[in-house]
Amino acid sequence: MSQVIAVSNQKGGVGKTTTSVNLAAALATLGHRTLLIDMDPQGNATSALGIDKHALKMHSYHLMVADVAVDSLVHKTEIDGLEILPTNLDLTGAEIELVSALARETRLRKALATARNEYEYILIDCPPSLGLLTINALTAADSVLVPLQCEYYALEGLSSLLNTISLVRQSLNPRIRLHGILLTMFDRRNRLSFQVESDVRQHFMDAVYETRIPRNVRLSESPSFGKPVLLYERHCTGAMAYDSLANEVVSRQPVWVEQSVPVSVEVR
Ligand code: ATP
Ligand code: MG
Repeated sequence: MSQVIAVSNQKGGVGKTTTSVNLAAALATLGHRTLLIDMDPQGNATSALGIDKHALKMHSYHLMVADVAVDSLVHKTEIDGLEILPTNLDLTGAEIELVSALARETRLRKALATARNEYEYILIDCPPSLGLLTINALTAADSVLVPLQCEYYALEGLSSLLNTISLVRQSLNPRIRLHGILLTMFDRRNRLSFQVESDVRQHFMDAVYETRIPRNVRLSESPSFGKPVLLYERHCTGAMAYDSLANEVVSRQPVWVEQSVPVSVEVR
């Protein structure tokens, strides 16, 4: 039985896609059959795995709106055991069309019911918003992985996300938990990174992964070659951090949201 993990934070540019792509690649390399679903109309995860998003005929729009089965939408990747269900800008239409659809929040969950038997991990790269695509991802997921960029406004908006997760738990998906909070773009030369880390760990304790993702130029270069970092530069600090995160993800028990979330948190 698979674990479905939504990678979500409505703040833009915090490392959701970088994490989805490289964690998925690292999980597959550990031998776990993994599917990455691109739920962001920007299609960044799609191109980061070497797919030409403009040439796609069928993609996650068709999963969400036209009831096309997962297995006819997935693409193999260069990594054994890693498949992607890609997307492009057309997915924006799904967000609009779903507004008037029946059971609009549970479409992704239904679509994944069969696919769950095929994969050990299904990761969903969410868009930077809390709209219907993210709600579908949270409703389909067993848990949420939240990337937090180590910068001054790291926690801004986090309470809206956690609040949304709680609401989804009360109404649409009682089993959803927080898988963990991931510190991204950590810069050891910058004191602020250490301060953000210390504050986040103090407030969220065990919910924060031990692994920190360092700021690493190879991580930002590899998408332009259509490769996850481990095929681009196997031994860089970014690749090693995502290996370590994959090991943590495999061994970790997700927590209930309420256990570790204060009402509001501010970094000084
Ligand atoms: P969006 O909200 O637009 O979907 P996102 O949360 O998915 O953004 P990414 O696209 O993963 O964020 O990252 C934003 C930018 O930061 C990208 O240019 C990416 O290459 C870069 N980046 C992400 N993580 C790192 C890192 N650890 N080191 C260096 N650059 C990084
Ligand atoms: Mg993204």
